[in-house]
Amino acid sequence: MVVVGSGPNGLAAALTLARAGMRVAVLEGSAEPGGGCRTTELTLPGFAHDECSTVHALAAASPFFASCNLAARGVRLLTPPVAAAHPVARGRVGVLSGSVGDTAGGMGEDAPAYRRLMAPLVRGSDAITGMTLAPLRSVPAKPILAARFIRQGLLPATALAHRMRTSEARALLAGMAAHSVRPLTAPLSGAFGLTMMLLAHTTGWPVIEGGSGRLVAAMTAELAELGGTVTTGAWIKRLADVPQARAIVLDVTPHQLLALAGDRLPPGFRRAMRRFRYGPGVCKVDWALADAVPWQELACRETVTLHIGGTLEEVAGSEAEVAAGRHPERPFCIVAQPGVVDSSRAPAGRKVLWAYCHVPPGSEVDMADRIERQIERFAPGFRDLILAKSVKTAADMERYNPGYPGGDIAAGASTIRQTIGRPTLRWNPYRTPIPGVYLCSGSTAPGGGVHGMCGMWAARTVLRDLEIRDEARRT
Ligand SMILES: Cc1cc2nc3c(=O)[nH]c(=O)nc-3n(C[C@H](O)[C@H](O)[C@H](O)COP(=O)(O)OP(=O)(O)OC[C@H]3O[C@@H](n4cnc5c(N)ncnc54)[C@H](O)[C@@H]3O)c2cc1C
Repeated sequence: MVVVGSGPNGLAAALTLARAGMRVAVLEGSAEPGGGCRTTELTLPGFAHDECSTVHALAAASPFFASCNLAARGVRLLTPPVAAAHPVARGRVGVLSGSVGDTAGGMGEDAPAYRRLMAPLVRGSDAITGMTLAPLRSVPAKPILAARFIRQGLLPATALAHRMRTSEARALLAGMAAHSVRPLTAPLSGAFGLTMMLLAHTTGWPVIEGGSGRLVAAMTAELAELGGTVTTGAWIKRLADVPQARAIVLDVTPHQLLALAGDRLPPGFRRAMRRFRYGPGVCKVDWALADAVPWQELACRETVTLHIGGTLEEVAGSEAEVAAGRHPERPFCIVAQPGVVDSSRAPAGRKVLWAYCHVPPGSEVDMADRIERQIERFAPGFRDLILAKSVKTAADMERYNPGYPGGDIAAGASTIRQTIGRPTLRWNPYRTPIPGVYLCSGSTAPGGGVHGMCGMWAARTVLRDLEIRDEARRT
């Protein structure tokens, strides 16, 4: 078997195949394996920056990673007491804690509304998480609860947020939903918010000690034990360049598939792949800091993840600007400070920090100054701590990893159409019309994030097609 691309999904596919007794070769174009899961000294020696993902709620909830026995491979998940914080003004901060009770307890007059929204979902969290991490064709374990989740999730985030009264609770919901990279007035943006909050109340929002690269190291180590190989520096330009194999699993996007194999795909499928839409990009900044960020609010110092950009109206305005093809002057920013729980990321007393904001696809605009101004709003003196920084525009993001077209880190827009059928409406989203060729990237169901589930489902399809008994499926 050959897997092209060693992102979390490519490696999950490789491991699922190798565990079933297959001989697997992974071909990775970049010099390092891992795709969106690499850790590098991007700024100064001794500062370990996650080039992409840092917060691993999805990995913690993923049935695939549950099968990996990560702890035995030295992967430690470190979970901060506060999953996320969203300051709106001095003394006003939305706080997402580990439980519904704690979160509601900090919400004052919004406590009953938050409990009503989240408590039933948390009670049925296994069924909802199972549904969100599987292709949509699967029958949910608890259909009534699933229907409730879908009904609420179909709402635009702004509608969900308006169930709250305080500016900080509204902003908290808005920031969660902004992970959809959709305008907050778009249907389905609410589902992202609900899922993010549900994960906070079930698995928490952990980071990996030492950096996300450790997750990939554990995956490649298991693959090697099973006889699999990973070859780096091997960009595949055409499907014909892939060595003979019983199956080829591609950790690539639909437009990449067209470039690799367009002439071998039937016209209908080619059209479907061409119709696949990517979302906005991101501009990401990594900093090496002399000390922890001087956030004004205590909750902001107790969490890894911060949503920075002010009120619901400000966040919605920023995302709407991006959707309209403009660069917001005051962008909504997602900020990660792993040093709150992991002192190994930087020399003693020093810290790493990253933040990104959404930008129009393919943007070459360096948003570092605007992002820093947003952080300064809630942490005066932040800029004085900067020792070094590294900026990737959306265009750089695609150059870094062609799996992020135009800088779209989810490898596909989260529209309703692309949620029902990702990458296109087919019973099995992983099989392509070319016999023996499969897709497994975040452009397939269930979408972006480090969960490995696209890879696992794709590999199971391969095994089923080859009528090979899949031990993993039964355990
Ligand atoms: C800035 C940023 C922050 C993020 N934060 C988080 C987070 O905190 N939590 C989270 O869960 N997710 C996060 N994500 C998203 C997450 O990283 C991705 O959704 C995830 O990595 C997708 O996995 P994948 O295996 O599908 O693809 P990728 O990780 O993109 O891997 C694809 C791999 O295939 C290789 N490849 C592509 N084409 C070819 C080719 N033709 N030949 C050979 N090799 C090829 C690429 O080099 C790459 O290594 C973030 C992403 C970014 C960019």
